[in-house]
Amino acid sequence: MVEDLNEFIKELSRVYDPDSEDTYVTLYFSKGTDKKFIDHRIKACNSVLKGEEQKNFNATMDDIKNILKKNIGNNIAVFASHKHNFQKYISLTTPVENLLIVDSSPYLRPLARLLDEWESFTLVLINSNYAKIFSISLGRVDNIKKLSKDIMNKHKKGGWSQARFNRLRKGAIHTFFSEVVEELEKRSDKQIIIAGPGTSKNQFIDMLPKNLRNKIIDVIDIDMDDEDKLIKNSLHLISEKEKRTSYEIVQHLKEEILKDGLAVYGVKDTIDAAKNGQIEILIIQKNYKLPGWICENCQIVETGFKKHCPYCGKKTSQVDMLEEIIEFAERTDAEVEFTDDEEIANLGHVAGLLRFK
Ligand SMILES: [Zn+2]
Repeated sequence: MVEDLNEFIKELSRVYDPDSEDTYVTLYFSKGTDKKFIDHRIKACNSVLKGEEQKNFNATMDDIKNILKKNIGNNIAVFASHKHNFQKYISLTTPVENLLIVDSSPYLRPLARLLDEWESFTLVLINSNYAKIFSISLGRVDNIKKLSKDIMNKHKKGGWSQARFNRLRKGAIHTFFSEVVEELEKRSDKQIIIAGPGTSKNQFIDMLPKNLRNKIIDVIDIDMDDEDKLIKNSLHLISEKEKRTSYEIVQHLKEEILKDGLAVYGVKDTIDAAKNGQIEILIIQKNYKLPGWICENCQIVETGFKKHCPYCGKKTSQVDMLEEIIEFAERTDAEVEFTDDEEIANLGHVAGLLRFK
């Protein structure tokens, strides 16, 4: 199981065949869809590939079929190359378009898009003696941690003064909240939603250290047993937030372009900036593909078609330019933002906000 999709993508972005051979197979396959899709693609690829590449392709497909057998009933993305003894996969919470791609590197675009659309977050449902912490990634609950403590109820027992009773009760709640904070400290999600009935959640928020408090994106007033509704509302919130972020990033890009600031656009300039580690946020037109070629030996990508690299003479591999830009950007820790904003199309289908110029 993959813990951190972001890390998973970054790791895959560094993987490629240095000889530009088409040795990496990427398969995206959604559960319940027709397996014939895979057979059709195998047949098609076999009619195009030759020699060692073909041998490797079929051996890789055997590896992939074994992985599929163990993961029946999952949406899955598999990245494999028999030649490189390489096999990685991740089960996906949301269905994706079925794809089988043979290339000189793993094909990451659908995964990067999922990550962009479904940023992971932590949801805390809490009252004075019970907490449920949900880890939600790719639009689904991944993990639930429950914490509870016996806290005396609000009415004092005989013999104690009200003041003493209140003090003890407060102390017990404080101890319980500390345990929940400790649990939250272990998580790496950048966003937290706090929910629960009444004022307990606010007392809890007051106790949070600054680094955690800054991650709170919303506080929801809800009953402890309204869990399904809470998760649905939270997912909606995250999805709306992503749309807003996407809009703001494009606005920011336009401003930077107008003042000739920290921005770049168009395929060529964006590739150069991505290779240079200059890109903070890569902005990609959602459904656009641009055919090109890559020489993995020189790490040069250009539009159009070339069978051999004009710089080193080695064989090239045919690629989607935007995919290659995503791979370069992921290697240097950039964020990837997908948009269908018209202006990005006009600016050459890809752009970037820069860290430096
Ligand atoms: Zn070359």
